[in-house]
Amino acid sequence: MNSEKKDFKGFSTSSVHGGEQREKYAQSLTNPIVQTATYVFDDLDEVDAYTAGERQHFEYGRYGNPTQKVAENKIAALEGAEAALLFPTGMSAVTTVLLAMLRSGQHLIIMEDCYRKTTQFCNLVKKFGIESTFVPPGDFAKLEEAIQPNTRIILTESPTNPHLHVVDLEKLVPFAHQRRLKVLIDSTFATPINQRPLEFGVDLVIHSATKYLAGHNDLMAGCICGPGPLVAAIRDFQKVTGGIIEPHGAFLLIRGLKTLALRVGQQNKSAQDIAQYLEGNEKVRQVYYPGLASHVDYQVALAQMKGFGGVVSFDIDGDLERARRFIHNLKIPFIAPSLGGVETLVSHPASVSYYDLSREGRLAIGIKDELVRYSVGIEDVDELIEDIDQALKGI
Ligand SMILES: *Cc1c(COP(=O)(O)O)cnc(C)c1O
Repeated sequence: MNSEKKDFKGFSTSSVHGGEQREKYAQSLTNPIVQTATYVFDDLDEVDAYTAGERQHFEYGRYGNPTQKVAENKIAALEGAEAALLFPTGMSAVTTVLLAMLRSGQHLIIMEDCYRKTTQFCNLVKKFGIESTFVPPGDFAKLEEAIQPNTRIILTESPTNPHLHVVDLEKLVPFAHQRRLKVLIDSTFATPINQRPLEFGVDLVIHSATKYLAGHNDLMAGCICGPGPLVAAIRDFQKVTGGIIEPHGAFLLIRGLKTLALRVGQQNKSAQDIAQYLEGNEKVRQVYYPGLASHVDYQVALAQMKGFGGVVSFDIDGDLERARRFIHNLKIPFIAPSLGGVETLVSHPASVSYYDLSREGRLAIGIKDELVRYSVGIEDVDELIEDIDQALKGI
């Protein structure tokens, strides 16, 4: 039985079997790593058949690899997409997509609160004649104001980082399409388990697969998911720009994806417990988690998401010094600038991601000194909460 591209009903079944051929090389159960840079043709007649499009054949490593293809098909199955395309990093996905879809003289709108390097890239492409306007997530009046005759794309994230704003896709997508704009979403924080943006009519989904999709903090990768023709056009662009994933990276990604639904299910539950615990603790001023009724976008999150994700952000009741002391008191999480893996990681955005800005500069974009970002892993939640509790007591 050939199960390639077959749709399975459940996310765990899709995680394990989606995108895979039942029969594999040498009766192997798992998918082989095809560690090759190029592919051979029997004779030039086969080359002719391939170039005429009459025969499927891999050609050269930069144009695709069988291990990469399985990983792409698995992600496409999970996102409910016609096609997916992998990149060596999330940023490679973001930059390739924007360069492929925009040309000089065009304009894009990007939500504030987007990944810092993505916003930096939007500023950087000014030198190619591509202009950007930044608007607060969810502010449709500002969004309307920002639209110009040459605007082509609205780029958003949801949930956003670090305040976990949830953008109302049911509202955003028709708004954009009525104005002939494409909607691109970086859905890294949601994962396909919690949110499938293509079902809302979003034109293209982007992920840093380094985070939840790979899930083990041991691999860099990025991907896009969307309609076949758009993904194919970006694939053609990537063949020129050359940002491809290595076969071994694709293998690790397949392996990580097998447990995606399990991991994310656990991370959703643990994050909800931790958010509720934090909200009840007097040493915490405010908790940002879309699964809490106190979150500004709680209603949107309820309508749009199946789970609220594994990242919890919160303001310590105190200043920079107390936030740093809290982080130093924690015993289980590592201090590291990533998220989505099996290890719990903690970050202090003012020191890690925005260290180069002045305090005023940080406050202008909502990054308070006392803000902590906690990315929940798969450790036992009781133990994580005990650890947070002792760390808060110690400040
Ligand atoms: C990490 C991240 C990126 C960048 O991905 P890399 O794999 O680190 O290049 C982009 N967007 C979001 C939301 C991220 O968290």
